Amino acid sequence: MVERKPIIVGNWKMHKTISETRTTLSALRAAVQDVDSVDIGVAPPFTSLSAAAEVLLGSNIALAAQNMHCRDTGAFTGEVSPPMLLDAGVTHVILGHSERRELFGETDDLIATKVEAALAHRMVPILCVGETQGQREANETVSVVTGQLSGALRQLRGADLESLVVAYEPIWAIGTGLTATPGQAQQVHEIIRDFIGDLLGRAVAERLRIQYGGSVKPDNAAELLTQPDIDGALVGGASLEAESLAAIVRAC
Ligand code: PEP
Repeated sequence: MVERKPIIVGNWKMHKTISETRTTLSALRAAVQDVDSVDIGVAPPFTSLSAAAEVLLGSNIALAAQNMHCRDTGAFTGEVSPPMLLDAGVTHVILGHSERRELFGETDDLIATKVEAALAHRMVPILCVGETQGQREANETVSVVTGQLSGALRQLRGADLESLVVAYEPIWAIGTGLTATPGQAQQVHEIIRDFIGDLLGRAVAERLRIQYGGSVKPDNAAELLTQPDIDGALVGGASLEAESLAAIVRAC
């Protein structure tokens, strides 16, 4: 059995000014300074990345971005490139979040180019997949999730994927207060691991960390995180307060 170190990442979405970022991350840093059994990350908005990097310097909290362009430079108004993020101190990047897919039209093909760019720049891609309520009710969860995985990982070989993290985020559970039951989440996580095993080899699948995301909070984290194929959490709303993100880390 491969030991997988759990990974908890806070996705702040479009929240927090630079000064709010400093305050929250200083408190988080103090609250989790003794934790070494869990990888911890926070994804502030782009404008706060440099300030966040200063506050987190020398800490056990990684800096993540919420999105990224696949090219290094060029005429791409409004976009931010992998070298720019690395320069700002970013090591992890959330890709294919359902809000990017739904609100900004991101396709599996586009997300594939970003995953490849992240790996090429030695950043940790956190690839988000998940079904809508309607797709779940139509029994399409497995085909949607495996389709998103094969679409985004189409060009990659096992050896490239050492750092890949997958986040299973049922869309009906994001920001709604509805959480997948531990059993529902575990079932999909196991399917994801098996699918990655078929696609990229059993060794990659065994090492792959699969986060659950969707209304994770301090009071439901422990029962989700004790499932055998749940290796961490991607946390939205509950990551905005240092204490609640720290409590989720401790629940791990
Ligand atoms: C998310 O957006 O990645 C997320 C999981 O949000 P929340 O925790 O608020 O449901």
